[in-house]
Amino acid sequence: MRKLNYEEPPGGQIIGWKENSLQVPDKPIIPFIEGDGIGPDIWAATQQVLDAATAKSYNGRKKIKWMEILCGEKAVNAGVSALPDETLEAIRKYRVAIKGPLTTPVGGGFRSLNVSLRQLLDLYACVRPVRYYGGTPAPVKHPEKLKVVIFRENTEDVYAGIEWPSGSEEAKKLAGFITHELGKPVSEEAGIGIKPMTRKNTHRIVRAAIRYAIEHQCPDVTLVHKGNIMKFTEGAFRDWGYEVAALEFAEETISEKDLWEKYAGKMPEGKILIKDRIADAMFQQVLLRPDEYSVIATPNLNGDYLSDACAAQVGGLGMAPGANLADGVALFEATHGTAPKYAGQDKVNPGSLILSGVMLLEHLGWTEAAQAIKAALEKTILSKVVTYDLARQLDGACEVKCSVFAQKIIENLA
Ligand code: NAP
Repeated sequence: MRKLNYEEPPGGQIIGWKENSLQVPDKPIIPFIEGDGIGPDIWAATQQVLDAATAKSYNGRKKIKWMEILCGEKAVNAGVSALPDETLEAIRKYRVAIKGPLTTPVGGGFRSLNVSLRQLLDLYACVRPVRYYGGTPAPVKHPEKLKVVIFRENTEDVYAGIEWPSGSEEAKKLAGFITHELGKPVSEEAGIGIKPMTRKNTHRIVRAAIRYAIEHQCPDVTLVHKGNIMKFTEGAFRDWGYEVAALEFAEETISEKDLWEKYAGKMPEGKILIKDRIADAMFQQVLLRPDEYSVIATPNLNGDYLSDACAAQVGGLGMAPGANLADGVALFEATHGTAPKYAGQDKVNPGSLILSGVMLLEHLGWTEAAQAIKAALEKTILSKVVTYDLARQLDGACEVKCSVFAQKIIENLA
């Protein structure tokens, strides 16, 4: 198979990494994967909005130097593998990248390109900020009360892919071993999945959540788990979460237990409260008391459910951004799929990828440009100039194409 040779854009500079933080030049090279299906439409819209906001916010002093890298169908059509090594290398080397949605080619040898990217780059934190944009149709009375950033562990839990179907030799063997050697009866008929969770990986996801809370002056970090039932996995996640807070952030945090035992329930100034909630109760909490939560750290499966439920609460998955982070490497992405029936129609909502781009700008420290896009997006939705998905839920909306929606956001940049 042929090798890819990515050429750096002229005048671009490489982002550095020193003492656990990014060193961002004014003209950083940022690789992008356009994505399959609706990817080209939403990427074109996103790139224009990010470039316009950056140019306006910094008078041309700062500018992203985009560099296309291949993955998915575009890579296969270029005669290379769906996930070329050069693409992985580029994401590692340039440290910050963004991608549209990807189809997993049938017979490609792995379950999902997205899962492969996360595993191969060890992107251990899936970060999903959820907030309401005024004017978006939402199913609850006060969607604006929910403003939360969810840190979902990305590498272990039942997502580790260690499972065997009912009736297989492996499942029977394992059932026999557990029954006879470990003394816990398991039916020979059972399909069996394994849920590995480790102290090291719990520490790093909770550490990332606490660091985020410190940097963004958030009042609390909530560990969401199902430890009342799964004591040595989910329960351990809670214990290890409190442990890393006490070991590494004793100055900045206090636990809910200490709040009551040492401070009579009165929060000391400037501290971050570390609390925990059982997952089922948490689904009620985000509906009934949404403003009591600002940052959540949770294992893989809880995080999967909770991030979609929270996104729906503020008006939809179509606008939910996401990032997958490692230490020193970040890949931003739209959270929806390739919506193949709309491919090439310039129709769909680019909001999810645009807001992932906003996260990217914040990650670079370019907060002025990020803020400008959020305000312009909100202004555009409030004016009811929206893509089909929002138009069908909004009385009196003016439905526009994906590219026109992006142009309206650009016009609304302050
Ligand atoms: P999907 O692509 O997310 O589309 C499902 C539906 O969601 C669409 O039919 C559309 O609903 C709505 N939708 C999605 N994106 C939208 C947007 N930008 N604007 C407006 N509406 C949007 O899910 P799927 O059909 O299950 O998956 C299709 C392919 O995407 C699969 O190959 C899957 O593997 C892949 N996938 C990739 C990622 C990723 O790259 N991160 C994530 C999930 C799925 P209506 O029809 O109601 O308008």
